[in-house]
Amino acid sequence: MALTTQVGDVKVTLVRETLQGVSADGLYVDPEPAVFDANRDWLCPEFMDESGELPLSIHALVLESQGQIIMVDTCIGNRPIDMIPQMSNLGSGFLDELAAAGYEPEDIDVVLCTHLHFDHVGWNTVLVDGQWVPTFPNARYLFNRTEYEYWDSGAEGAAITFGDAVRPVLEAGLADLVDSDHAVTDEIRLEPTPGHTPGHVSVGISSSGQQAVITGDLVHHPVQFVAPEWVMTADDDPDRASATRVAFRERYGDSGILIFGTHFAGPSCGHLSHTDGRWTFTAHH
Ligand SMILES: [Zn+2]
Repeated sequence: MALTTQVGDVKVTLVRETLQGVSADGLYVDPEPAVFDANRDWLCPEFMDESGELPLSIHALVLESQGQIIMVDTCIGNRPIDMIPQMSNLGSGFLDELAAAGYEPEDIDVVLCTHLHFDHVGWNTVLVDGQWVPTFPNARYLFNRTEYEYWDSGAEGAAITFGDAVRPVLEAGLADLVDSDHAVTDEIRLEPTPGHTPGHVSVGISSSGQQAVITGDLVHHPVQFVAPEWVMTADDDPDRASATRVAFRERYGDSGILIFGTHFAGPSCGHLSHTDGRWTFTAHH
């Protein structure tokens, strides 16, 4: 079931691929249990279950802005992923979910990936007659230039499907390598948020007096707003990732700006506030 949120004139629709529980140890290098205990009142039940497991969503956000249909991140897709068997050949009904939300692949005008890790590029391509071809034939695919060049140079990390989910898009002539503050429409603009990967971007939405931001993987779970120093297992540059989280919290906390997570559970959006000396994230339903 697709969830829809309006930000000014921009319609935001969440199309989910998977929702799975993970342990804090699976997500973070050195998580402190006391932080979860101290924030149980707002983490449960939406962002943590009674056993302490953290629901992690993999979804795309589809934006309608000024006549353009824009997909932000494309999940894992149906593909073999040698290093992660449990995420291989998922056989998910993502494209059916997309259709149920009212969008056929041909309708998508722009695909943008916040970064090029495997769980953000998957549906960029599908396998047809043994070849990986773009799933969205009428789209321009936007990749940050720094991000593309980093992985294209053979860097090691979680961009393990670069060869079959990113490079074929370039070869098909559908990709644009853009700057990290690129304006997609007058209402939608990339924002540089490096650290998790070198060319990682967030996505800002500003329309008719309302504002929102899509985090990408600068945070994986709202608990990181409380503990921005925690290193996520796939953070490329931990110090830079932490500094980016602190700066993001300063900028968007207590602002009234709606924050969409790229892996948050539930509606995946909410407000970050600082009251009585502590940070809380309240889901927006
Ligand atoms: Zn991710």
